[in-house]
Amino acid sequence: MGRSFDIAVFDGDGIGPEIMAPTVAILRQLADASPEYALSFTHLPAGAAHYARTGESLPAASLDAAGKADAVLLSAMGLPDVRYADGTEISPQIDLRKAFNLFAGVRPVRIGPGHQTPLKIPEGREVDFVLIRESTEGLFYTQGKGEVTENEARETMLITREVSEKLFRFAFSLAQDRKAQGQGKGRVTCVDKANVFRAFAFFRGIFDEEAKAFPDLVADHAYVDATALWMVQKPWDFDVLVTENMFGDILSDLGAGLMGGLGVAPSADIGLEQAVFQPCHGSAPDIAGQGKANPMAMILSAAMMLEWLGMRHDVLALTADGQRLRQAVEQVMQDGMSVTADLGGQATTAQTGGAVMAALA
Ligand code: ATP
Repeated sequence: MGRSFDIAVFDGDGIGPEIMAPTVAILRQLADASPEYALSFTHLPAGAAHYARTGESLPAASLDAAGKADAVLLSAMGLPDVRYADGTEISPQIDLRKAFNLFAGVRPVRIGPGHQTPLKIPEGREVDFVLIRESTEGLFYTQGKGEVTENEARETMLITREVSEKLFRFAFSLAQDRKAQGQGKGRVTCVDKANVFRAFAFFRGIFDEEAKAFPDLVADHAYVDATALWMVQKPWDFDVLVTENMFGDILSDLGAGLMGGLGVAPSADIGLEQAVFQPCHGSAPDIAGQGKANPMAMILSAAMMLEWLGMRHDVLALTADGQRLRQAVEQVMQDGMSVTADLGGQATTAQTGGAVMAALA
């Protein structure tokens, strides 16, 4: 038995618990079969339903336990009818981002044969890039605190040197790892609007400084509007894209659309000390409790968690299992027999989870 890792699990709201159940079952199966590592799971309360019951959306004890865990697996959270007194949504995922300084939002965009992509991808082209969204400042800096008078509303965008340096170093290191694994071209593109805003010229300047430490990689720039166009016209050109919080928020939904929908879009929020892995989608109350939810985004987020833990702790078996899990999901999508309604199939959440387990075995 190798090293054991404690995973903090937030089951979430709406379809959250439904997609978390097969995900944890798959992780248990992988860990049980591995002599190299073990996983233990601590389920922690948080979310909109918990708030409705107790008046607390993220109890201090849950936050504390999540901070001490080796990684956090978080399902979809929030319910449209449950809100704070000021009308804002319950979003413990944003509280965790702030509490743990999770500055890098990692959104992989991969389009394999099973993806319901609206794109026509030419023979021989492969879409496999990663969008990194800064997740603690930018145009979300004054979130919930903007100044609104009768005739004016103001929000502030903040870009700091400290966070930008960490963000760009993370982006370049990721491009290096991808290149080493034969997965990327070794290119990082800074996505900004430096032609209009001084704050983005500052952002770009820091990117260029950090690029000097990575001479083996190509560092270039793109304006955010052009990037949206190219994500549709030639997404196979990208490797790692790095951008500000609001731009990243918008482009990552575009990325999910290119992959065929939110049900297959995973994500990770990563800091220097902790990381949270969660699907890009919300709690989908319209389909909750019906067994229709696609668990792929949650399972792919868990695969990212295994890869992250493996890299961080130098446990090759974890990294390998993360990749194997991603390939198993892609195989099930390609077969098309056990996919949920959003991908044109008839399988239930549990059947899709079972098919991924079978593909792994
Ligand atoms: P949020 O603002 O919390 O991110 P949202 O309003 O963007 O949420 P989602 O909850 O993500 O909305 O759902 C958007 C649509 O996508 C809904 O019709 C929902 O049913 C569908 N959807 C989201 N996730 C899944 C999933 N895992 N499987 C199937 N359908 C999904």
